[in-house]
Amino acid sequence: MNDLAVQTDTQAIVVDEVFPHAPATIWKALTSGDLIARWLMAPEGFEPVVGNRFTFQTTAGGKWDGVIHCQVLEVVPCERFVYGWQGGHAGNDGYGAPLDTMVTWTLTRMDHGTRVRLVHSGFVLPKNETAYRNMSDGWKKVLRNLDNISAESHLYTGGCACGAVRYEINGEPLFMNHCQCRDCQHISGTGHGSYLTFAGDGVKLEGQATHWDIIADSGNVKTCAFCPTCGSPVYMTFAANPGVFTVHTASLADPGRYQPQVVTYAMRGYAWDHLDPAMAKFDKMPPG
Ligand SMILES: [Zn+2]
Ligand SMILES: [Zn+2]
Repeated sequence: MNDLAVQTDTQAIVVDEVFPHAPATIWKALTSGDLIARWLMAPEGFEPVVGNRFTFQTTAGGKWDGVIHCQVLEVVPCERFVYGWQGGHAGNDGYGAPLDTMVTWTLTRMDHGTRVRLVHSGFVLPKNETAYRNMSDGWKKVLRNLDNISAESHLYTGGCACGAVRYEINGEPLFMNHCQCRDCQHISGTGHGSYLTFAGDGVKLEGQATHWDIIADSGNVKTCAFCPTCGSPVYMTFAANPGVFTVHTASLADPGRYQPQVVTYAMRGYAWDHLDPAMAKFDKMPPG
């Protein structure tokens, strides 16, 4: 949908769509430079902080060098993001005519997603006719990209160090823990293993891992998967609980997403393996 909101002497481009992603997922795509580069253009000097100045480089034309100068004006996490968008040169008519506009993103949580409303306002007609026309189509495409990038950035992806074994997981972790049991110490080569456990039905695997089994303290069989080429431990599955899939934290493409909740088998932990004392610790596994 794309309607034209008429103001006194300026025009705005309005694109209003509902995407099947959480506001936080879209917010991340809107406000991280690496992701903006994928759905719009690579920003230079971008920080999602009020007052930050950043630029985009687009095609130069006439006397205009093609640089779009932006400044962050408002940041309300997961709700509202506003920046100024200026470009053009006084010596240009048509393409590259002086442009002094504002881009406003508004996110509204819906039952099964987020309403994304983009308003690019301040086009003065007829001076900015070319920009207005080009960007009316442009923003519609950009929003489709934003939808796709949001969908991708939502997945948990990762794999082994050499890249031969890879996974893609759709869904949020059910459980995130550090485990100090003897098996995890052996597998990690240090004081504990760090894991994210997901529902298994959202998992796609690529490449052939080598598997071996451990009988856990509980008597249950844990199947450990590692890459036969580089040796990295990648994931674990459990015969007694086939619905879950556990990955080693460092195998994630973005291990920064790990937010450990608890320490398991703390009774086997060594004093030198110091973990956040504020985290809940269980001698073995948490009950249930
Ligand atoms: Zn590998
Ligand atoms: Zn363990």
